[in-house]
Amino acid sequence: MKRILILLLLLTVGFFALKKWSPDTLRKIAHLIPHSGKKGDAPEPQPALPPPEPAPVANQSSGDPKQVPSSTPAPKTVTVDKTAQVVVLCYHRVEGAAGGALSIAPEVFEQHMQRLKDRGIAVISMQDFLAWRRNEKTIPPKSALITIDDGYVSAFENARPILKKFGYPWTYFIYTKFVGTGGKSITWEQLGTLRDEGVEIGAHTASHQNLRDPRGKNAEAFEAWLNDEIIGSKQLLEKKLGVRCSVFAYPEGRYSAKVLDVVKAAGFEASFTVYGQRVTHGANAEKIGRYAWLSRRPQDMEMALNFTGPLSPSEAEPPAAAELASAMLLTQPANGDTISDSAPVLKANLGSLGEFDESTLTLRLSGVGPVPAKFDPETKIIEARPPQPLKPGEYTVFVSAKSGQKKVETQWSFKVVPAKGLNATLNR
Ligand SMILES: [Zn+2]
Repeated sequence: MKRILILLLLLTVGFFALKKWSPDTLRKIAHLIPHSGKKGDAPEPQPALPPPEPAPVANQSSGDPKQVPSSTPAPKTVTVDKTAQVVVLCYHRVEGAAGGALSIAPEVFEQHMQRLKDRGIAVISMQDFLAWRRNEKTIPPKSALITIDDGYVSAFENARPILKKFGYPWTYFIYTKFVGTGGKSITWEQLGTLRDEGVEIGAHTASHQNLRDPRGKNAEAFEAWLNDEIIGSKQLLEKKLGVRCSVFAYPEGRYSAKVLDVVKAAGFEASFTVYGQRVTHGANAEKIGRYAWLSRRPQDMEMALNFTGPLSPSEAEPPAAAELASAMLLTQPANGDTISDSAPVLKANLGSLGEFDESTLTLRLSGVGPVPAKFDPETKIIEARPPQPLKPGEYTVFVSAKSGQKKVETQWSFKVVPAKGLNATLNR
C-alpha cells in the first residue's frame, strides 16, 4: 500500500515537472485556487499586474502568439524597419453634416479607407505600432493608424462596419464622462463589444477640457484636477473594461510641461496630439501627431492619405490649430464641472446642432434668465458672460434656436462654489 502511494506521488510530481508551467499558465489558474476569505486570514495581496490585455482578435494583431518564456531564450531574429513611417488619422463623428464641423459622411470615410488600400498604406494596430517603437516587431514602410475620438456612437454604428469590411484595426479615444450620457454618446456595453472585437481603447481625459488651462485653480487644485482627468480616466477605463489602457489623446491636442508630467506619471506608452505629421521610429512618444478631419479643411486629411506632411519630430502647430481647437471645444464650463469663478465665460460649440436660423438663437441661464450672446458662424461657437456675478449654486445653460419649424436645443450644467471651497470639493 505504501509503495502504491509513493508511486502515485512520484507520478504527480513528474506530471507537474513535465508540464513546465509558465507564469502565464500560473496566472490563468490563480483564480481557481480557492480562497477561504475568513477573517484573520492574511490579507490578499492587491494585484500588482495591470488588468489583462484584451483577447487577441484575428484582424487586430497580424501577430505572433504570446511567447512562453523559456530558460534558453531564442535569439532575436526580428529585423525592425526603422525607416518606416506612420500616418495617424483622427476622426470624431461619422455621420455627415448633422454631426458638425468634426463630422465626416460615412461614404467619404469609406473612400478614405479605400484610398489607404489603393495606395498601399498598411493599416496597423496600436499594439503593432507600439511594438515597432519598442523594436519588437516590424511594420510596412508606409503604415497608418486609425483613431476615433470622444465616444460618439457614430463610431460604433457607422465607422465600425466600414472598418470591419476593410479588416482595419482602430483605436477609440474615450472621454469617460461622456460615456452612457444618452443622445449620441456610446454606452459601456457598446464599448465592451468593441473591446471584445479587438478595438484598442485609449484615454481622452474625464471631461474633455483644455488641459493647459488652470481655469482659476491654484497650483495644488490644478494638479489634483489634472491627475483626475488623466490618471483617473485611464483607471476608470481599465476598471470598467478590464483592459490595459496604454495610449492617451490630448483634448484639442493641447498640452503643457505640467500636463506632460502627469501623462508620464500615468504610464502611457504613447500620447497623441492633432498636429499632423508622418511619424518616424524615433518620434517623441509624448507628442505623436495626428491628421484630424475637419470638414472645412479636407486638405489636412489629404496629406495623410497622400502620405505627405512634415516628418516628425515636428513641434510646429498645424495651420488649422485654432480652427481645430474651437471645433473640438464642447462647452465651457464643462458639463458637470465645479468652478470658483463667479463670472465665467459661457461657451458652447453648436456644431452638433446641425443647421439652424442664427437670428433665432438664444442663451438662457437658469436662475438668471436670457443672457446676450455672441455667435461666430465660422467656428459655430456661442459665447456669453453673465451680466452679474453668479452666486454659489448649480446652473444650467440652455441654448436653443429654430431650424425651420423645429426647435433645436442643447444644455449643460455646472456648479459655482466660493473660491475657498474649491479645494475641499476637488479633494473629496
Ligand atoms: Zn476629443
